Amino acid sequence: MKNTSTLVQTQFLSAQDVVAIVNRLGLAESLRGMADYIHADYLRWQDFDKHARVGNHSEFGVIELMPIADARTYTFKYVNGHPFNTRLGLPTVMAFGVLANVANGVPQVLSELTLTTAIRTAAMSAVAARALARPDSTRMALIGNGAQSEFQALAFHHLLGIQEIRLFDIDPQATAKLMRNLCHTGLRLLPCASVVEAVRGADIVTTVTADKINATIITPAMVEPGMHINAVGGDCPGKTELHPGVLSQAGVFVEYEPQTRIEGDIQQMGPDFAVTELWQVLQGQAAGRTAQEQVTVFDSVGFALEDFSALRFMRDSARRLDIGQPLALIPALANPKDLFGFLRPLPQAAARAQAEAQRSNQPETALA
Ligand code: NAD
Repeated sequence: MKNTSTLVQTQFLSAQDVVAIVNRLGLAESLRGMADYIHADYLRWQDFDKHARVGNHSEFGVIELMPIADARTYTFKYVNGHPFNTRLGLPTVMAFGVLANVANGVPQVLSELTLTTAIRTAAMSAVAARALARPDSTRMALIGNGAQSEFQALAFHHLLGIQEIRLFDIDPQATAKLMRNLCHTGLRLLPCASVVEAVRGADIVTTVTADKINATIITPAMVEPGMHINAVGGDCPGKTELHPGVLSQAGVFVEYEPQTRIEGDIQQMGPDFAVTELWQVLQGQAAGRTAQEQVTVFDSVGFALEDFSALRFMRDSARRLDIGQPLALIPALANPKDLFGFLRPLPQAAARAQAEAQRSNQPETALA
């Protein structure tokens, strides 16, 4: 019989392990690698058992579970979205996830996914923009300069050749933080006084704001011919970023339509509003951008398939770089039918427990 402790072993990737992976690979290479994994998985869209994620909504935010599987591998992500968390000193978005073997159910990897989600979301935005934005795009507006924003900026710089980014956030300190973090990257960073100023003349507009309202960050008057809008922050019922008029004049592309109808900016549109799932464009079954002047929108909400790709990417990188630790998450049983035996204490401990039980059974006066 095989050694059960290796059969049920789980690899644990902590937040520091993922930092080590990204530092060893470099962030540009990590974004590129992640984008390649996502693209490859979108090309085999039909292989996956897909579901809209399950959300638990409260007045404070949302906690979501995101499962997906192909014939060999099952993954899920736990993720929250609490727009007011930063006031409490907590991130808006926090996540972890599991990758398991479909054949026997063993959880093979348990990983942090907070940092990983920022990288995968930025990589996904770049995968979509490569198919939808004008290839000559060099200028981007970045509205919302919080935790996700630097990753978005660098994905568009390294994967699409964006050279100039015009920044706006209602919190000027968030913009100042982004400028400090990215001042050595070669990107031209221009802080702006308003959304209108940031968006004017941009080839690509990325919105990545956090608020629990139907916001109208981008209005029809701001949209210029040929723009690509990468709308990342509207990802929950009652939480949107685009004025409906922006959507009605654009070609709109989504990850998984059943989920985006509930969570994306298109929740504001009727059920007959036409959208295209991105996999169709990537597989060559539907057109992406059809004209230079066309306005395209990627209504991003984050789909489980991207976390499947992200967990695969981190697992493979960790193996290659020998990073991570084994975790005794599942009991290693000598006899798989004897779970009860796993409880059996060591003989010495059993003797101590028996003595303790005898003492506590004696009348209180005898103990005094
Ligand atoms: P964050 O709280 O760190 O940053 C959000 C920023 O948006 C803050 O700096 C805030 O001041 C700014 N902001 C809020 N309202 C604004 C407005 N009207 N105009 C300009 N700026 C505004 O959050 P984060 O982790 O960067 O996440 C940003 C958003 O992206 C969240 O809504 C989150 O749910 C979403 N998100 C989506 C995906 C996806 O796959 N689509 C993945 C991760 C996060």
